[in-house]
Amino acid sequence: MIVCKNDSELAAMRVSGRIAARVLQRLAAAVAPGLTTRELDELARELIRAAGATSAFLGYRGAPGAVPFPGAICVSVNEEVIHGIPGPRRIQAGDLVSIDVGVQFEGFIGDTATTVMVGAVAPEWELLAATTRHALEAGIAAARAGAHLSDVSHAVEQAVMAGNCRVVREFVGHGVGRELHEEPQVPNYGRPGHGPVLKPGMTFCIEPMVNLGGAAVEILADRWTVVTRDRRASAHFEHTIAVGPADAEVLTRA
Ligand code: MG
Repeated sequence: MIVCKNDSELAAMRVSGRIAARVLQRLAAAVAPGLTTRELDELARELIRAAGATSAFLGYRGAPGAVPFPGAICVSVNEEVIHGIPGPRRIQAGDLVSIDVGVQFEGFIGDTATTVMVGAVAPEWELLAATTRHALEAGIAAARAGAHLSDVSHAVEQAVMAGNCRVVREFVGHGVGRELHEEPQVPNYGRPGHGPVLKPGMTFCIEPMVNLGGAAVEILADRWTVVTRDRRASAHFEHTIAVGPADAEVLTRA
């Protein structure tokens, strides 16, 4: 069941969303050649703590047999799609670095991601990042009260296809609120006019994960890191939104 948030819950989600947005903005600005993804995670921990929040990802339980997520953020470089564990990997010029931030503040979650181009990247990677960002915006524009949920999915998919890239199908966006993952699931593909009708107060994350090559992905032996099967590049952008009386309100816009 999709629970609509009331006004005080939406107010709380605006705060957690703003915290997530600011943390992500600071992290994106800090990305530079030579930095390890663990160092980026250490900065994230400082920023999240300074905001009085906690990471919604640290300690998150994943697949059976996987360790609880050990990072405060996910950092996914180049062929890594999502759920990259911060570690010794050193960011290089020309990399495409996806950063996913989830924070909890006073009981509510804000969840947002961006993909940073480190210096000059290959032109087709630039196009991939632009397409993914555009697909997120197309999804947000479709998330209007009275629309069907799959209208959002369809809008994302159309934008990805227009950019001649491929949508990852195994991982999807999600409802969000007191929990990181609530109903509904928000796929990045689908026919329009299906699923629940959007109502004011619904809050969910739209998060296109988009590949330059094939759509197929696999999970590394760490049981977290999702990579493209063909090891070509992938990008990820995400916002937490609230369906409003008409247009959606983006809660994680910096
Ligand atoms: Mg998410």
